[in-house]
Amino acid sequence: MRELINDLKEIKLVIFDLDGVIYRGKNLIPNVDKIIQELKDQSIKVVYNTNNSTITRKMYVERLEKLGIKSVISDFYTSASITTVEITKMKKKSTIFIIGEIGLKTELENCGHVIIEEGDITNHVDFVVVGLDRNFNYNKLSFAQKCILEKGAEFIATNSDTTLPVEKGLKPGAGVMVNAVMTCTNKEPKIIYGKPNPFGITKILEENRIQREYTCMIGDRLNTDILAGNRAGIKTIVVLTGVTTEEDIDIIKNQLINSEKNRELLPFLVINELEDIFI
Ligand SMILES: [Mg+2]
Repeated sequence: MRELINDLKEIKLVIFDLDGVIYRGKNLIPNVDKIIQELKDQSIKVVYNTNNSTITRKMYVERLEKLGIKSVISDFYTSASITTVEITKMKKKSTIFIIGEIGLKTELENCGHVIIEEGDITNHVDFVVVGLDRNFNYNKLSFAQKCILEKGAEFIATNSDTTLPVEKGLKPGAGVMVNAVMTCTNKEPKIIYGKPNPFGITKILEENRIQREYTCMIGDRLNTDILAGNRAGIKTIVVLTGVTTEEDIDIIKNQLINSEKNRELLPFLVINELEDIFI
């Protein structure tokens, strides 16, 4: 059995981001399945924390299964599942309009919330929840605006990623929809639950009863995965198989010479591929 590098010897829990770390589009990043199995064989707990709210945790289990990685629903902390838990704490069986896809809708419905369609004549709406919506349009935006400005709805966002990595390049991310709602309501979301908010990571630590010094986050994006991990006080590793390049890291390091501003964006470790966590 291969050993983990010295810096990671104490690790008991690894939190993986998904897009750009485990897979890119529909394709497994080579050998990631074997590496996850090796971690589990060494009794290291593996969980996944993604900002992508478009599919349910059950669908993530099926997606990883197809890529040769076994998992269970409770291994996943998605921005949709985290948002759902928190909204349920604020109000049970609330009335919600979503800009989002099936992942967000199903997680909320499964918790007893009522999801209304655009044009619904309900007088009061509790929340407008905004996530990535690849069928986003003017009518949805208009109705979200109406719910927030006229029907008393609280504006909540799952995440604000500017881009979404796909097989070849990038597509627009949830931040585009969040910004559209901000622009036409002149309001900021009350809270954005996804990374870089360390909310999800804190929840993972609590539920798994593992202390931060034994935990690391492996992600591909500095301003979400690494920032959230650093804010939560866990070890952070950026892997260069997704959106971040070596040049991006050099730019931040150079900026640090003049100002401390972006220190939180720098990971504890930079690795070219996941394989590099082993000796
Ligand atoms: Mg990613």
